[in-house]
Amino acid sequence: MIDGAILVGAEQRQATTRFSGIDPSTGATLTPDFSSAGVDAVADAAALAEAAFVDYAATDLETRASFLEAIADAIVAIGDELIDRAVQESGLPRPRIEGERGRTVGQLRLFATVVRQGDWLDATIDPALPDRAPLPRPDLRRVNVAVGPVAVFGASNFPLAFSVAGGDTASALAAGCPVIVKGHPAHPGTGELVARAIASAVAKCGLPAGTFSYLPGDTNDLGGALVADPRIKAVGFTGSRGGGLALVKIASQRAEPIPVYAEMSSINPVILFPAALAARGDALASAFVQSLTMGAGQFCTNPGLVLAIDGPALDAFVTAAGAALSEVRPATMLTPGIHASYEKGVATLAQHGAVKTVARGCSTDGANQAVGALFDTDAAAFLADSALGHEVFGSSAVIVRCKDSAELTRVVAQLEGQLTATLHVDAGDHAEAAKLLPTLAGRVGRILANGWPTGVEVSHAMVHGGPFPATSDGRTTSVGTLAIYRFLRPVCFQNLPAELLPTAIGPDNAWNVARRIDGIREASPR
Ligand code: NAP
Repeated sequence: MIDGAILVGAEQRQATTRFSGIDPSTGATLTPDFSSAGVDAVADAAALAEAAFVDYAATDLETRASFLEAIADAIVAIGDELIDRAVQESGLPRPRIEGERGRTVGQLRLFATVVRQGDWLDATIDPALPDRAPLPRPDLRRVNVAVGPVAVFGASNFPLAFSVAGGDTASALAAGCPVIVKGHPAHPGTGELVARAIASAVAKCGLPAGTFSYLPGDTNDLGGALVADPRIKAVGFTGSRGGGLALVKIASQRAEPIPVYAEMSSINPVILFPAALAARGDALASAFVQSLTMGAGQFCTNPGLVLAIDGPALDAFVTAAGAALSEVRPATMLTPGIHASYEKGVATLAQHGAVKTVARGCSTDGANQAVGALFDTDAAAFLADSALGHEVFGSSAVIVRCKDSAELTRVVAQLEGQLTATLHVDAGDHAEAAKLLPTLAGRVGRILANGWPTGVEVSHAMVHGGPFPATSDGRTTSVGTLAIYRFLRPVCFQNLPAELLPTAIGPDNAWNVARRIDGIREASPR
């Protein structure tokens, strides 16, 4: 059921200030309207989260893992109502939303297996050496603990997998942190349905009410108040560079500054090496256009930049890509605001004196439609104007012609931080690619070969991060199990009596987790 409520722990509230979702495919306002949470709700949710923290962080591994699985089950149990509402609010096709639900519940279940396994505790014991000369060594035991209540900002472009029960929420709850979600105003009905599913799992598992709260709203003030609240200890965000930086600023100016893990903008360079380009330029062109236009290009991993050495093979690629793009039908964008930003970004590129428009997709007069756009420039122009390297969120890309591999390396070295870089290479390209790899690794979070960056696996080895502005902290990831470490910090216990030690580093290893003793990993106890 959707009734526009704010969920402050187990309590449902209605506010007098309201906002509405819209169907971006028609521009029509959707019912019902929604409460816009105010600072009172922020304060109450933060107080409840703080009160819940000690008990929730102390839950045993099985209880916490079962809770994550209960959330997944509750999301699946919503059924078609969730899919229908998400399609209506996002304009994304039904199969995409169904797939995203699978990914959302899959990542919750993956984090449940991670929690049960217990490696994230990094239980480490340096036993006392009472007879060591000249000084004895104390008994030292280290374990990771949860940082405290976490604020999560749902993303517009993944209304399920990066939103209320998305990767930030799953990893924070897995770490033992209560979560307060600031709902994205682009999908308030979807957000409420998922929030209710999480709240039902909290109740079912007998957890403290403040383990989860949901604050819908469409004002910067709401998000700002949440990040400023002294009881919040970390933030997860996916969205615009401006939004992410605003939250980083608020967090850094608090009396107690806190980390903000913001995933912001990336143009995901694709590098076509000469042998690969000569051998399969046509196939690369059509696969590139498919990746560029998938989901109206509204992926953080969308390939917005193509780099290659100039010549006939690149000319043929540009021609083939332009022909393929000109046949692509437009697709509905997520919100009028995102559509307007896309149109503005494309118009700026089209009017740039050093940029040529290669092709546009099929035209339309429908609401909020993304018409694909492909542009062509050279490396000298790209190096001279940093604006050409800014993200245009949607199905727009720039091809940059480089004179030689030295110029291509200069372009890569000057790129802003990126989530991904893609190499198209044949065996004859490996020597040149090997030379470029160290420069690339300094600029991006994931390097892939002979594929496309769209489509991010949720797994243990995945890195969905990268240097600024791809993220505000390139040392970590927002997708995959490594994400749990954003919400943990190490604590060392020195000479504590056995009965006071946390379970994972206690004398009988009651949770049966793998531990490192005096620097040596114990044979897995499981
Ligand atoms: P957004 O405008 O950054 O909003 C994301 C969330 O942050 C919303 O809940 C928004 O809430 C909040 N927010 C934004 N600015 C804030 C501020 N100054 N203070 C407090 N809270 C703030 O992102 P969006 O609406 O999803 O999309 C807009 C643009 O973001 C797109 O055109 C695209 O350029 C970029 N984007 C990038 C990615 C990516 O993965 N790289 C993904 C999605 C979007 P309120 O609006 O209610 O304040």
